[in-house]
Amino acid sequence: MNRLYHESEDWVEQGACRQYDPELFFPVSTTGPGQHDAELAKAICRTCTVRRECLQWALRAGEPHGVWGGTTPEERRYLRRDLVPTG
Ligand code: SF4
Repeated sequence: MNRLYHESEDWVEQGACRQYDPELFFPVSTTGPGQHDAELAKAICRTCTVRRECLQWALRAGEPHGVWGGTTPEERRYLRRDLVPTG
């Protein structure tokens, strides 16, 4: 977790990722060589009590990098597309 960005967010203090190397949550890719790290980070997120808050923050912020709220950047792009009103 990038703590510098989110010091004002109360939920940050409760993130399960605080117990792990932050680099795990910023894999070089979500396929190929980085896929294992991305899957491991997502598994940690599934145990996290503040996953919903984290995902909401990442979607609002348009966070382009890293695993947040159990999602990769690609998954968040899909989620944001679903949230954008059409017409
Ligand atoms: S959902 Fe994942 S990235 Fe977000 S605080 Fe929890 S463990 Fe960290």
